[in-house]
Amino acid sequence: MGGIPLPLMNAQYDAIMRSYASKRAISRRELEERVMNIQKQVPELSSLDSSLASLRAGKVRAAIENDPKKLHDLDKKLAELTAERERLLKAHGYTLSDLNPSYSCPDCQDTGYIGTEKCHCFLQAEINLLYHQSHLKEILEQENFNTFSYSWYEGPDREIMRHHVMDAELFIESFDRKFQNILLLGKVGTGKTFLSNCIAKELMDTGHSVVYLTAFQLFQLLSKVVFSGQSNREEAFRQTYPYVFDSDLLIIDDLGTELPNSFTVSQFFLCINERILRRKSTLISSNLNMGALEDTYSERILSRIISNYTILQFPETDIRVRKKLHSLT
Ligand SMILES: [Zn+2]
Repeated sequence: MGGIPLPLMNAQYDAIMRSYASKRAISRRELEERVMNIQKQVPELSSLDSSLASLRAGKVRAAIENDPKKLHDLDKKLAELTAERERLLKAHGYTLSDLNPSYSCPDCQDTGYIGTEKCHCFLQAEINLLYHQSHLKEILEQENFNTFSYSWYEGPDREIMRHHVMDAELFIESFDRKFQNILLLGKVGTGKTFLSNCIAKELMDTGHSVVYLTAFQLFQLLSKVVFSGQSNREEAFRQTYPYVFDSDLLIIDDLGTELPNSFTVSQFFLCINERILRRKSTLISSNLNMGALEDTYSERILSRIISNYTILQFPETDIRVRKKLHSLT
């Protein structure tokens, strides 16, 4: 690798478009199989479908002949047969949607575009490629609100987590209306990453672009720009990693585990600050406490964070052992 990747090269664009084509091919094949299967089990369906087709053709003729009475009769008959078809399917345990293709993104029907605009799923595919976060999807299948359990926490800790989950749900629910940021603080293994994954999944599922970076990865990107030889480093970074500034949500996991220097710290401030100015939400998690954060990133950064972030302090329970026990039962 080496060097700085440009925002989406032709080959990457082609790769994304190819994956859409293969998704469409898969759903087409699935549909054909499903329809054949349904026709086998509901033999009356074929004759109903041909009656419906000839009624529709009749409607076109009636429209050309400008015959409102005939049009009205045909509409009535069409409605009857359509209802009959639905009833028939239902009696065999199917719905109308079983006769339509199922897309992984219904918004663009797996074409990547809505009109001439890139669909949100295209933007996310672009982000996943540029920031090497293709594994994120699998992680989010495992770590989300459905797999979260309060049984990992006990007594007052459970109460604290109920409040944090409520705050997380509120954050998601009001995401499009209200600009907000979250800082999750707590020791290793207390469930901070799990909760931020829950939030990431909900927002991605509702078509928001999410960039997930460990602090280590983010600071690596920041320091790459230093060595790129560009005179205007800030601008270079902005052009190279636009989604760090632009994405609907930026998650910075494990702040405090990277090796910061004075340059990356000032770039980190720029990034935090610019997202606040653009009113783009950021979620940071850290194993450090407030004092250690201030020592590492300066008072300037910390006060910017404190005044713009909701801070959730996690209980001290290490949930990793309980999660394992839980998954065995
Ligand atoms: Zn889409």
